[in-house]
Amino acid sequence: MSAGAKAPPRSIAEVVKPQVARLVPYSPGKPIEEVQRELGLTDVIKLASNENPFGPAPAVVAALTEALPRIGLYPDAGAVLLREALAAKHGVTPDQIAVGNGSDELLQLLGYAVLDVGDELLIGDPTFARYEPQAIINRAVAVKVPLVDQTHDLDGMAEAVTDRTKLIFLANPHNPAGTYLPDASIEAFLEAVPEHVLVVLDEAYYEFVDHLDHGRSLALALARPNVLVLRTFSKIHALAALRVGYALGPPALIRWLEQVREPFNVNGLAQVAALAALRDGGHVATTIAATAAGREVYYAACRKLGLRAVPSQANFVLIDLGRDDRRVYEALLRLGVIVRTGTPLGLPGHIRVTVGTPAQCERFVAALEEVLGP
Ligand SMILES: *Cc1c(COP(=O)(O)O)cnc(C)c1O
Repeated sequence: MSAGAKAPPRSIAEVVKPQVARLVPYSPGKPIEEVQRELGLTDVIKLASNENPFGPAPAVVAALTEALPRIGLYPDAGAVLLREALAAKHGVTPDQIAVGNGSDELLQLLGYAVLDVGDELLIGDPTFARYEPQAIINRAVAVKVPLVDQTHDLDGMAEAVTDRTKLIFLANPHNPAGTYLPDASIEAFLEAVPEHVLVVLDEAYYEFVDHLDHGRSLALALARPNVLVLRTFSKIHALAALRVGYALGPPALIRWLEQVREPFNVNGLAQVAALAALRDGGHVATTIAATAAGREVYYAACRKLGLRAVPSQANFVLIDLGRDDRRVYEALLRLGVIVRTGTPLGLPGHIRVTVGTPAQCERFVAALEEVLGP
């Protein structure tokens, strides 16, 4: 053994990398079936994972049914048709697009490609749960800048950039808060961040935004050498189970993702479904309109109950309960409504509630009134 080499492992427990041993597995929203079984309920709704309550477009289901007999074949490793369709939609070229097994995978690939021992990943606090693990697993350091008013503190983040900062993950709209940073703020931030730092704009809820200063982020990214935009089919297109996300940006950065990804990372059915979803604008428009209306239903209910709802530009609303979130969560659960407790998300005293169908929104509001009302 050479000088300074590590001692060999003495037990199987020492084989795992120390940073992996420290990682806590992701804790998802409670599944409907589990609540039904545990509480003996039949009619349970889940408003905990920001899924699209309307499900996929009928054309997507038809395309999947038609494609099923072909699952014995490997998918197109280059996802050529999907990337061409996305390129046409966004007015870019296919070499400006990389696809992933959900945008979650793209976050992981960015970690692999960019973060090394001691590098800094800059994120908000709290923020989306899949950001910090990318630092831990690569033995980088997650530098967390607290939100101000439940919104990313862009000035604070720009000031927190150091010589070691390599990567910034910015969720816009933010999850779990639902708050939105207008394009002008994003532009000023990109101006303030040095060009050797990779800024990732995670826009999983992009389509739900109705703020007037919105829609320029991709152009801002493409005009710079150091910015990527992430989008997903999970939320607006209701393809969460199939796992398709994509990155848009300069070809040189997209190439890093191509270099580290698995050849067949987006499966064949997922490619078929995503292509069909892109052709169905009507379903998207219905979802957007219902989501905007549902947010208003939640705000009105909160006003009536004297609760603060954080104004949202996403398909969920963060509600400040002003009391223990765990107990309200449990009480809602007994009424068959699954929401997300704030405490594990870093927001004690809050719940995060996905906007459901109109009937599900009414059901949640009635349950909340029953739990908290006079
Ligand atoms: C839901 C979500 C994603 C992940 O989406 P997938 O494409 O399903 O992996 C990424 N970022 C944020 C902020 C999200 O809320």
